[in-house]
Amino acid sequence: MTTSAPPVAGNRFADAIRSIPDYPKPGIMFRDITTLLASPVSFREAVDAMVAPYKDAGVALVAGIEARGFILGGAMSHQLAAGFVPIRKKGKLPHETIRVAYSLEYGVDEMEVHRDAVAPGTRVLLTDDLIATGGTAEGAVKLLRELGAEIVGACFVIDLPELGGRKRLEAMGVSVQTLVAFDGH
Ligand code: AMP
Repeated sequence: MTTSAPPVAGNRFADAIRSIPDYPKPGIMFRDITTLLASPVSFREAVDAMVAPYKDAGVALVAGIEARGFILGGAMSHQLAAGFVPIRKKGKLPHETIRVAYSLEYGVDEMEVHRDAVAPGTRVLLTDDLIATGGTAEGAVKLLRELGAEIVGACFVIDLPELGGRKRLEAMGVSVQTLVAFDGH
């Protein structure tokens, strides 16, 4: 991946991420990006690296998945001079929505987007902090495609390759970019 910032090794991002064992339940190694976000250098480098492949991709909207996808997606929208669309847990959006049920690494939930958030044919870049099984991102892709979005790609700070999320999205025809991969869950 190219970036306008000085080249950054993958482990530099890894070093900025805190790992918390057995959260939110036993067996899960929680990858906490709040430490990366709190570092002026790491946050900027991460956002620069995430948007770099899409600088000339005609992205009109960045769609961020609640809640950490909002932080990254807001900064990415600014960098790309694109708009931002929130994909939220059910019941949080005030206007008419469409909804999808999805499974995630540690549970099942539903998410929504405003029905009028994306005009058909709009080029949308999807983002979240981490892709594990890909259930969350798959749900978001389904919502955006139901509105007629053209998904330019999906990008995440962290990939957990053993859980297969990247392959799941690629099987849907969505290209995936990530900054750092961790073994295990
Ligand atoms: P999945 O749907 O399995 O790809 O899970 C991705 C979603 O769950 C993202 O919104 C992540 O923030 C969260 N998530 C899943 N596993 C972890 C983990 N090990 N550490 C931190 N967040 C996680």
